[in-house]
Amino acid sequence: MALLIDIKHPDWMTDDELRDALLEYEPQADIRIGAEPGNLDDIEMLTVSSYFPGEALKYPNLKVIQKTGAGVNNILADADLPEAVRVVRLRTDTSGNEMAEYALAYVLQEQRHIPQYRQQQAQSSWQAYPPRKAAESTVLVLGLGRIGKLVAERFVANGFRVCGWSRSRKQLDDIECYAGNDELPRALAAADYVISVLPSTPQTRSMFARELFGAFNPGSIFINVGRGDLVDETDLVAALDDGLLAGAVLDVMSVEPLPESSPLWLHPAVQLTPHVSGYHLGDAIADIAENYRRLRNNQALLNPVDRELGY
Ligand code: NDP
Repeated sequence: MALLIDIKHPDWMTDDELRDALLEYEPQADIRIGAEPGNLDDIEMLTVSSYFPGEALKYPNLKVIQKTGAGVNNILADADLPEAVRVVRLRTDTSGNEMAEYALAYVLQEQRHIPQYRQQQAQSSWQAYPPRKAAESTVLVLGLGRIGKLVAERFVANGFRVCGWSRSRKQLDDIECYAGNDELPRALAAADYVISVLPSTPQTRSMFARELFGAFNPGSIFINVGRGDLVDETDLVAALDDGLLAGAVLDVMSVEPLPESSPLWLHPAVQLTPHVSGYHLGDAIADIAENYRRLRNNQALLNPVDRELGY
């Protein structure tokens, strides 16, 4: 039984780097890399960061696809993904904490008017604005899973009023929890910052469209670190232009890299980053090695994805 690593993002991590890290945990493992897969019949586990439609069909004996992150939408969207192939993901507090830090960084710069001061400096303008108070600012975190909970807790620790929204109802200390589509507009209306940490599923795709932007507080900032295809980007630009919300911070886009022609690049109310809010895997690498071991021993795998729910 062989594990094939085919990450496809050498700027982030090379296949060799991950193989070396996995061999630390499983020195006897048969681990191949994308450039030298050997006999494709041997491959029973595939580890990817990006996944192309039909990729699973290259390996006749494939049993498991292990994603090197949390979002598995591209894998599940593959119409040719065999039913028998299980999909597993990673759960890591390392990148979750990085995403919390990212969201906090963008919120704090708004609270302290840093973008305005940058602009004023260029005009030698000396004008003061009172800092916004955390205790009087409401942060709404959409998605209260492994990462969303870390994000929400980071804002609680920094003195913000924090609300959260998820599919099933949660009870979390110091976080006002909303659940289900019916409760979303009420949660949005009260929020100064809306942070999406939602997965891309048939239920969430394109949910941020004209109608939902109409429920936003007009002074609010939308921060998307979940998945880009949740947002209708044409509607977002129109909503910003019409003053339905005040700004957007986007780490994820519907097409990545974002095409040069996208109006998002030059929109004055949009701040973009190239899908970097959660970056490092940390000790979650051990879970990939553990899943290889479990697959070999016919045991239940860590972090299975529910193909029906899509996450
Ligand atoms: P989890 O699976 O742990 O949590 C997902 C959360 O979303 C759950 O709270 C779930 O609700 C909620 N949810 C799902 N569908 C709906 C819906 N239809 N309505 C309301 N809530 C819904 O995922 P993680 O927290 O680990 O990761 C979240 C996402 O973050 C990933 O799917 C990935 O796309 C993205 N990500 C982005 C990164 C980046 O660098 N930008 C890095 C890592 C992840 P419930 O609790 O009720 O099931």
